[in-house]
Amino acid sequence: MDTIIFATKNKGKIKEINDILADMDVQVLSMEEAGITADVVEDGTTFEENAIKKATEIMKISGKLTLADDSGLEIDYLDKAPGVYSSRFMGEDTPYLEKNTAILQKLEGVPEEKRTARFVSCIAAVFPDGRVRTCRDTIEGIIGYEIKGSNGFGYDPIFFVPEIGKYLAEISREEKNAISHRGKALRKMKEILKNEL
Ligand code: IMP
Repeated sequence: MDTIIFATKNKGKIKEINDILADMDVQVLSMEEAGITADVVEDGTTFEENAIKKATEIMKISGKLTLADDSGLEIDYLDKAPGVYSSRFMGEDTPYLEKNTAILQKLEGVPEEKRTARFVSCIAAVFPDGRVRTCRDTIEGIIGYEIKGSNGFGYDPIFFVPEIGKYLAEISREEKNAISHRGKALRKMKEILKNEL
């Protein structure tokens, strides 16, 4: 069985990838489970750069195939902000209620066709022999007119998905994983791993 390190401290992400890779002969460990405490500075200007940097640095410590993801929200009307700065937008510790309220204010009066936005997820796999593979996927939506729903996290309560007629924070975790940027990118990474392992 191959051991894979997922360079995250987020237990939810480990659970999600383990669910998706359940039928493969691999075991995915978090950094904590692998005994790695390093902090990687996410100073890239693209999601790909950050994901590759995280996976590379943790692979150098673990010596094992390492995956890392980077994700964020692109709002077209704001020139794709907050983008790679999604978690740092208005300050890392600022509650999302404040961040989401500020975004709705910035878009006040902006018509629906100009409110397009997407969540992007990029996943990098760095192998001990130096191979680097990346994939990305998105979920397209619009920035809504209100804060709605109590599921999910981050910008989910202002992200309206026209094809389901709901905000992301209104749907269950399973429903979100089926359509989300990260769920779709993880399933693409599974196909990459099947070919590369
Ligand atoms: P990271 O890739 O886990 O560092 O996520 C970066 C940031 O993007 C998060 O802190 C959120 O602000 C935002 N983000 C990424 N994915 C989602 C999502 O599925 N829902 C809401 N916000 C998200």
